Amino acid sequence: MQSSLARYTFAALLAILALVCISGIVLYRIAQNHEQVLGQRTPAYAGQLLASQVSAIAGDWSRATQAIAQSPLTLRLLQTRDETERRDQLAGIISLHPNLGEIHILNSDQASGQKPISSILSARQLHLIETARSGKNDAANLRADSPLLTLTEPVRDASGQIIGYVFAARHLNEIRQLFEQTPLIDGYAELQQVNGVTDVVLKRGNERLKIQGVPETILLKNTPWRLAIWTTPTTGSLTSNPLRSFLSIGIGLILLIIAIFAVTYKLSNRALQRDLSALAKLFSDISHDRMRKQYPIALKELKNGYQLMYQLGKLMVGKHLRTLNSAETDHLSQVNNRRSFEAKQRDVFARVHEGWAHSLLILDIDNFKQVNDTYGHEAGDQLIVQFGKALKDNLRGSDFVARLGGDEFCVIFPNTPLAKANELAQRLREKLPQQIALKPDVMHTVSWSGGLSEYSRHDQSENAALARADQALLDAKRTGRNRTDIKAAA
Ligand code: GH3
Ligand code: MG
Repeated sequence: MQSSLARYTFAALLAILALVCISGIVLYRIAQNHEQVLGQRTPAYAGQLLASQVSAIAGDWSRATQAIAQSPLTLRLLQTRDETERRDQLAGIISLHPNLGEIHILNSDQASGQKPISSILSARQLHLIETARSGKNDAANLRADSPLLTLTEPVRDASGQIIGYVFAARHLNEIRQLFEQTPLIDGYAELQQVNGVTDVVLKRGNERLKIQGVPETILLKNTPWRLAIWTTPTTGSLTSNPLRSFLSIGIGLILLIIAIFAVTYKLSNRALQRDLSALAKLFSDISHDRMRKQYPIALKELKNGYQLMYQLGKLMVGKHLRTLNSAETDHLSQVNNRRSFEAKQRDVFARVHEGWAHSLLILDIDNFKQVNDTYGHEAGDQLIVQFGKALKDNLRGSDFVARLGGDEFCVIFPNTPLAKANELAQRLREKLPQQIALKPDVMHTVSWSGGLSEYSRHDQSENAALARADQALLDAKRTGRNRTDIKAAA
């Protein structure tokens, strides 16, 4: 995959942006939570609100119950013994107070001789009272599973004697709705009845909080109830201390950003180091006159510069190699020139002292001058070119061919003793062409004379073998040409 410093930077910036956004959202939520916690920390406020709402309902309710207790209609009902008439009268009273819920009017003797108290009675209890009074089973009119809140008001006759009671009953749902609507976050509240034993009327919130602390209690006026409210302990929670949260999130954010920068720096630095070492390899190869197919450059920013350097390097290496080649090659015959022959000879002579045997053969074209004189200098050149090519074609790859000058060539047979070199020289004489085309229509019969010798560790200089071979060549020329003479080392 193509990588670039810009991409690393972009990725780092994106990561930082995402982090900042996430932290922002978290901080915002904490701040919001904190505000809610502050609101919730005033249970008195929530309690007072709830208390005033319940009290308002209870006040109306109580007043209406009192009004029924003091009504002459109620007095008349209590003095009537006929059940049908009583029921008609009760229906008349209820129709005057349609919002009051259930109303029950009992004679004092019917209320088991005890003074009923304002309390919560279950529908079942109330039903039992009603049944006991009327001697009828009227269960169908009552919701047996729905608890009722009741208020009781005594009814007095003209002499002030209590002759009965009015029970006003309400279903709990009305109060429950108030309970649900009053703000109480992460708290727990109970509506309790406090006549003698504490009974829980309604519950709301996280009940586990009840174990942890002391409630705040509020008595509800005009009712036998009170509110008990428990709230969350405020120590140690993250949301309870926003400054600490901001600090820890801020420090965390800074550390993460530093980590992102460190990782980005490390990754881009590694990519840069890898590319720089590839470039160093390129430069080293150029200096050694060689080039690989490609160098692994990954960073986009370095690609263009690298392409330019690669092309330049290729040109430089090519040019240098051509220069080197022309410095070692004879421009006419395309075999090695005299200079590289001398270098080779030095190398071979050095190895003679290590015990290796090497030989050399000088070849000189017979009567070459005549070719120049007869067909011209260019034809002579052509003969030199063709003779050099024929030599190269008919020798082993390990043999070293050079043109020493004019029509004189030399072959070094490395790691070859004189006797073996003589065989090779004879074979060469057989293989070299006897006819060479100097021009399209001119074929020339060519022969050459040879002088063969060997490099010896007793020689004073590397040229001694060449001098002996030269001597042998002279002998060959003198004794009729077209032959090879040998002059071994002493
Ligand atoms: P020999 O059989 O004794 O060798 O007789 P030769 O005529 O070949 O005599 P020699 O080898 O001395 O002649 C070399 C001649 O080659 C002398 C010179 O004019 C000619 N010559 C030298 N260099 C070049 C060259 O580069 N091109 C051409 N065409 N002739 C050259
Ligand atoms: Mg010659």
